[in-house]
Amino acid sequence: HAHISLRNIRKTYGDAVAVENLNLDIEEGKFVAIMGPSGCGKSTMLRMLAGLEDVSGGDILREGQWINELSIWERDMPMVWQSLALFPFLTVRKNVEFGLRMKGVGKAERKTRVLDWLQKLGLEGYADRGIDQLSGGQRQRVALARCLVTEPSVLLLDEPLSALDAHLSVQMQGELKRLQRELGITFVYVTHSHSEAFSMADTVVIMNQGRIEQAGSPEDIYLRP
Ligand code: ADP
Ligand code: ADP
Repeated sequence: HAHISLRNIRKTYGDAVAVENLNLDIEEGKFVAIMGPSGCGKSTMLRMLAGLEDVSGGDILREGQWINELSIWERDMPMVWQSLALFPFLTVRKNVEFGLRMKGVGKAERKTRVLDWLQKLGLEGYADRGIDQLSGGQRQRVALARCLVTEPSVLLLDEPLSALDAHLSVQMQGELKRLQRELGITFVYVTHSHSEAFSMADTVVIMNQGRIEQAGSPEDIYLRP
């Protein structure tokens, strides 16, 4: 079984078809980039994987098990948003701790795990800062820490770097790739950007008008006419 499989996924909003006929197998520990023009259905696909939206048809499987009906917390596929969606009124520590609280992890373990992840992401010393006291790159790292602290097997990322300037974006691309390799977890990464997709992904999926047009290694896709 593939780590995650999409089988004939369809999503409609009223009469409008957002995506249809989506079939994709994602292998464990791979970095998969979902590309395509605005409106082609990338975010819709990611939100269905996350459990933020129901599918209108088809099945989402993990290791062959049906997961369509699991809640966001049961699915264990947290998402990093373009807007980051951090809590601006909470400290870095409280932001990162959030998912562990939701999972009912005890106080002592929460503390150790939060500090451990802040250190892994180069944020040691920032635990008690407010979000408004951080740079764009640091906020990005807090958003990553908040997801990774729960030790998911899949991380979903929706245009996480698009608000950063070009230099910082390239630096974060390197960091994301390194993290994904070291942790061995599956990344599903939505982007408009060819350079982001081709620099990081093992598999590039190209969508157009709600369908998957091509999927393959960056070399395959690049060399295909
Ligand atoms: P992006 O192109 O960056 O993925 P969009 O601007 O398409 O983002 O969508 C942003 C939000 O607006 C999403 O949450 C999406 O569900 C919602 N949205 C997009 N298109 C429509 C629409 N036609 N009607 C209602 N909501 C929409
Ligand atoms: P992308 O992420 O590739 O920009 P989306 O997944 O946001 O594309 O949107 C795919 C299609 O679904 C678009 O035509 C968009 O307008 C439509 N759509 C997305 N979200 C909604 C929504 N909440 N209500 C109505 N239409 C939506």
